[in-house]
Amino acid sequence: MKPSVSYALFLLLLGLLAGMMGCQREQPQSVDPMEVYYPAFHKDILPSDFDFTRTPRYDIQLRIDPDNRLIIGSQRVYFRNLSGRILRDIYFRQYPNLPQLGGLMKLTSVRTLPDGYAVGFAPELENTAARITLIDDLQPDQELGLEINFEIVAPQKEGYVLFGESQGILSLPYAYPMLARQTADPTQPWRLEIPPVFADIAITDLAFYSVTVTLPDDYLMVTSGVELTQSVTEPGWSSHRFVTGPAREWTMMVSKEMTSMGQTVDGNRVNSYYLATDEVSGKSALAYAAAVLRIYDRLFGPYAYTQLDIVEAPTRYLGMEYPKLNYIGLDTYRSATESQEFLIAHEIAHQWWYALVGSDPYDYPWLDEGLAEHSSLLYMETLYGPEAANRIRTQRWELPVQWAKDHGYDIPVGQKVTAFNSTNYEVMVYAKSALFFDSLYQAMGREAYLEVLQAFIQRYRFQTPKPRDFLALVKEVGGMDPAPLYREWIGGADLEP
Ligand SMILES: [Zn+2]
Repeated sequence: MKPSVSYALFLLLLGLLAGMMGCQREQPQSVDPMEVYYPAFHKDILPSDFDFTRTPRYDIQLRIDPDNRLIIGSQRVYFRNLSGRILRDIYFRQYPNLPQLGGLMKLTSVRTLPDGYAVGFAPELENTAARITLIDDLQPDQELGLEINFEIVAPQKEGYVLFGESQGILSLPYAYPMLARQTADPTQPWRLEIPPVFADIAITDLAFYSVTVTLPDDYLMVTSGVELTQSVTEPGWSSHRFVTGPAREWTMMVSKEMTSMGQTVDGNRVNSYYLATDEVSGKSALAYAAAVLRIYDRLFGPYAYTQLDIVEAPTRYLGMEYPKLNYIGLDTYRSATESQEFLIAHEIAHQWWYALVGSDPYDYPWLDEGLAEHSSLLYMETLYGPEAANRIRTQRWELPVQWAKDHGYDIPVGQKVTAFNSTNYEVMVYAKSALFFDSLYQAMGREAYLEVLQAFIQRYRFQTPKPRDFLALVKEVGGMDPAPLYREWIGGADLEP
């Protein structure tokens, strides 16, 4: 139906009148500072007491030259002093300089914002951190802005590569100076551990990210963010702007030989990125990821972000979790296709046990690894029944743990990452800790166990709880004393309140 001319005029006058009234009001609109990040996450997942002002914010500009594996970057970071004491030294991590990553990151200048005063900086911790020394005190709870310019050279290697180029894939996690995690302990305000070669790398805080990446047009880029805009900067190069948050880190992967496909699951976009030569496995990866997301959504509660990516990574048969972005080892697309489904179930489980409920990979590496392993059993059991679950128990967990016992590698799981070595890390921190969660699952029954996991998410989402917080919920929500099973499988000293 078309409106008559006079009715249209009436509407126009009404619009003008409303516009004039709008002008007269002149009230400042309250701007939601998180609004720019909403495309990346579901805002109803935030706890009601979430404090945006205590969450660091990064505004990063990167120019990536993939042919030379060179990154030129500039970032503005805003954060509060949460240490409870006056700070002079601020720490950023330079993880690419870890020997196991083999890159080279260096800062070229640091300035305070908004005034632009230059401040001093120096490498520390075997060049895996930069100490930035302020001229003036940073008072407790005071906000500071810093502009940091930096350069990174990524290595080129064969075989397993977490950072750098291998087999046509340039993997770039940790490719910016990362604000070290703050603690509430005034005697030790920064977390400055150096991770051992076999362990997870980053100890970080939640942050919000706005990242603009300029790179050649013939490269495809996968990131932990959601792309908002794209523009041509010079012939053959474009800038892409992404946002994400609340997220524990920012990650990118770049390749000339990748392609992608996607589908929608529970209102979220799920994408599979793979080398064009591995199309069959790229398709299966998407199907597995979609099934895993559907099942975890129902078992644990909704996924936090609006997109989920599975990407073929040069990490052999291993995976690695980043917020929204899951690395799935290239071997599982080629020679080890039978392990692709479990690996995808494990990595996506980390979107709940690492990305949403934070975990400390240095002090308690077993907590999120054990939960991710056991969540994969829940997925397989839901889809394929109890026989499939039993196969995982026996082959993936019980046999390796028995092997460790027989060969003198069995130690208490409830220890810092430095208590392990390359031989026993995975069997203790993954398999034995999964058997702890499985013993709880079998003792409590499926319904009560899932209630505990859901309560863990409800209470600790976007925080970093300790094992004792989980154990307290087993008692409170699951109605069971976890101490005997904890002593049997985990050990360590974390039962005290
Ligand atoms: Zn894991």
